[in-house]
Amino acid sequence: MPVPQSCCLIGHARWHGKQPVALGKLAWQTVRKLGVLMNLAHWLARTAQVDPFRPALFRGQTMVSDYRRFDTQARAVASWLLSQGVGPGDRVAIFMKNIPDYLVVLFGIWYAGAAAVPVNAKLHGREADYILDDAGARIVFSSSSQGASLSAGRTVISVPGDAYRAILHSDPVTQITPRDATQLAWLFYTSGTTGKPKGVIITHGMLQTMALCYRADVDQVLSTDTALYAAPLSHGAGLYTLMHVQAGARHVCPTSGGFDVAEIMELASHFTGVHMFAAPTMVKRLTDGAKAAGWDGNGLRTVVYGGGPMYNTDIIQAVDQFGAVFVQIYGQGECPMGISALPRAVISDRDHLDWRRRLASVGRAQSAVEVRIGDADGRPVPTGVPGELMVRGQTVMPGYWNNSDATAKTLRDGWLMTGDVGVIDQQGFVTLQDRSKDMIISGGSNVYPREVEEVLLQHVDVAEASVVGRAHPEWGEEIVAFIVGTAPEAEMDALCLAQIARFKRPKEYIRLPELPKNNYGKVLKTELRKLLG
Ligand code: AMP
Repeated sequence: MPVPQSCCLIGHARWHGKQPVALGKLAWQTVRKLGVLMNLAHWLARTAQVDPFRPALFRGQTMVSDYRRFDTQARAVASWLLSQGVGPGDRVAIFMKNIPDYLVVLFGIWYAGAAAVPVNAKLHGREADYILDDAGARIVFSSSSQGASLSAGRTVISVPGDAYRAILHSDPVTQITPRDATQLAWLFYTSGTTGKPKGVIITHGMLQTMALCYRADVDQVLSTDTALYAAPLSHGAGLYTLMHVQAGARHVCPTSGGFDVAEIMELASHFTGVHMFAAPTMVKRLTDGAKAAGWDGNGLRTVVYGGGPMYNTDIIQAVDQFGAVFVQIYGQGECPMGISALPRAVISDRDHLDWRRRLASVGRAQSAVEVRIGDADGRPVPTGVPGELMVRGQTVMPGYWNNSDATAKTLRDGWLMTGDVGVIDQQGFVTLQDRSKDMIISGGSNVYPREVEEVLLQHVDVAEASVVGRAHPEWGEEIVAFIVGTAPEAEMDALCLAQIARFKRPKEYIRLPELPKNNYGKVLKTELRKLLG
């Protein structure tokens, strides 16, 4: 049987001239084992085998494990899970703050062939209970306060804790439980701002492709890098552990367990070659903190931002402060970190005629997906016309966990309907306008909150701005701006009148000490709408 061309991508098929050589049945099985049928745990096993004494896990500046110890402990966790009857496909939850053992548990779950259910550590116990029940996870690894908030009737392992220490003394497994590319690796729960959280099925194959696309489309990964986890590991930062394990990089969890600007500055200067994922609101905090402290970003190699809109004024200030360290990605749980990317060369290329416009975009489609802008029926619209952003390809989810109705609404003819409104230009740059549900329709005209926010943020005394619609008997909706800052209303009005259509100007400005945000740094427009009554 000739080897299908795609198999050669995995690097183990032999070529004869330009034609693939037919492999015997045994060799073909080997190819499948090494490539298509691959559990993510192989990446840790391989790094530990190649370079066992390479420093791996750190708490602050203190090393807690090299790769050999990291790998051995993950295998011990797997051994204990298997002894509890947890096996291939079973779900095991992680309800933990960012600590180095997060990675040990995550890879331990994969070694056992089980799937991880990382739960946002800031959730209320009742919210976490809902997720654990929905996922059918009977074992939970948890930080102590998180575990205490859960309802009874589960096996909760406190990390750190005596039971966990005993687990680490289990006999490490010698085999990796086989998983294939289509099988569940990570059950990712959406933040549920529009209803109950839904579990997104993320497979081993999706994550392998996501990590390889990172290297192809987003940035280099070097063995000398240090991945700094200042954003929650239950979200994008946790997915980005993968390429750093594959590369044998160092993994650092700040001792504060969160996003503390002074601590980040200190860790970056100490480790150098630092990579971190940050939501746009975190990038802004980092820039403001660095300006105040006179820090120029020494030690910071890459900051990947995404997960929400980055305003032009904020990224320009960030590049002015830190230089060419920024890279943007656009993704969603349903296509994790994998829809598009805006590389550092574009972000820092001030001389390019289209620099500002490109900066306002989310870049071009990543290598494993096709991106289309569709009309209400999902049919492609002409270039430059806005519509719903649709994605199809290898990093797109196969569906939601036990929720065929939601799957049918979100996946249409193999396309993921993202719910984001955007346009694609002639060069393939994708610009997002807003979530379709955030778009305001005032007097029959569409207003994308983001374009109003971009204008308001140009005022030096506007630190944060978020625009929402309020029901209006005559216009359908009217525009209201929530502002953090002291800018006078007349000056904000004047800025708007100078740059955008009159009907887009906010009818009211409401001042807040800060905007409500979720644990991932996203502004919660649902909370703002509640303030309008
Ligand atoms: P989540 O599934 O929680 O990661 O949220 C995904 C949503 O965040 C997307 O559908 C977008 O609306 C938004 N988002 C993600 N990345 C970006 C980005 N780079 N720029 C603007 N919005 C983004």
